Amino acid sequence: MKPLGPIPAGFAVIDGELAIAGLTASTIVEQAGQTPLFVYSADMLRARMAALRAAMPEQLHIHYAMKANPFAPLLRLMGQLVDGFDIASGGELAMAINAGLDPARISFAGPGKRDGELEQAIVHGVTLNCESPAEIRRSLAIADRVGRVPQLAIRVNPSFELRGSGMKMGGGAKPFGMDEALVVDAARLIIDSGAQWRGLHIFTGSQALDAAAIVETQDNVLTLAARLTAEIGVPLPHLNMGGGMGIPYFHGDQPLDPAAVGRPLADRLESLPPELAGTDFAMELGRYLVGEAGVYLTQIIDRKESHGQVFLITDGGLHHQLAASGNFGTVVRRNYPVAIASRYGAPAEEDANVVGCLCTPLDRLADQAALPRADVGDLVVVFCAGAYGASASPSAFLGQGAAAEILI
Ligand SMILES: *Cc1c(COP(=O)(O)O)cnc(C)c1O
Repeated sequence: MKPLGPIPAGFAVIDGELAIAGLTASTIVEQAGQTPLFVYSADMLRARMAALRAAMPEQLHIHYAMKANPFAPLLRLMGQLVDGFDIASGGELAMAINAGLDPARISFAGPGKRDGELEQAIVHGVTLNCESPAEIRRSLAIADRVGRVPQLAIRVNPSFELRGSGMKMGGGAKPFGMDEALVVDAARLIIDSGAQWRGLHIFTGSQALDAAAIVETQDNVLTLAARLTAEIGVPLPHLNMGGGMGIPYFHGDQPLDPAAVGRPLADRLESLPPELAGTDFAMELGRYLVGEAGVYLTQIIDRKESHGQVFLITDGGLHHQLAASGNFGTVVRRNYPVAIASRYGAPAEEDANVVGCLCTPLDRLADQAALPRADVGDLVVVFCAGAYGASASPSAFLGQGAAAEILI
């Protein structure tokens, strides 16, 4: 037996089935008309934001990093809940605008922005987190050509990183942002050009469950921002402090207590160095806001045994669930939280392998998981599917196509 990851709080059992927003899994599938299906709970998204707001200092802005989940109905809901959006491509800019989000609340980071993407961002008044001096010069030239004042910030590649984070994006040689030593001259270039100086973006990593590590990194970010601001010599309008707050995916992972991040941050914001007295602060979060509010439902289409092991073969797989299959940045494959949605809460009766329908051995959703006996027609649920699911998986692989998605 291999352990499953912890099921997030907030899910119910109705008539022996997993229930979301008072509806059983089979009812939701019936309404959607197909499996595989991603289901996102609006109530859970609202509850997560409310709890986070309560834990964080009031003046802290919360941004949603939309690469975690750009599903249009979810984006529209997030538009009512968060203060800003972080995008990472012209495609995401188009999705954000189509969802009716205010471009003035959007900032655009990403190490390889094409001229056309820079132009769209500048025309819409989106803040560009510039990742190199060359990108600043390109942005200024494009702004000049289209007759706009660009909103320019600098993404810093800090010399420190977020300890214990699943994905490091700062510290050492990186394609992201500018090394600290380049920032002061780059900021002067922006300010002297007459562009709107929008401040600094310092992102250090993702998927941290250790509050102390996040607090330590935020201290480092504030110290660095104060030092750079003193050298730049102009007040810092905005500091995007990065995010990094993670969610439990695997057995043994402990959920992060947001108050353990929020309390020390409130103290820091109460006693800021003079350089940061007039600065607006933001955290940018993806999976922490949306990851636990989504599930992936897939139906069992075959059940068989091989060399004494049970295989439950579903109509879903890694083409929608690259991360749960263990193929999105993990070294050792471990089980996500997975259950039989149509026998939810029933006692475990056997160890089973849950696999997808793709003709590759990489397509695994749960290895040797203790589950109630399930058969053809039963529904399997993969939890923690609200982030980096549909949009971060190769849905074109093997001609499978996208899963359906609904927000309820
Ligand atoms: C991916 C990314 C995020 C979101 O990461 P999560 O782990 O989903 O919170 C935030 N900011 C930047 C710059 C990113 O690249």
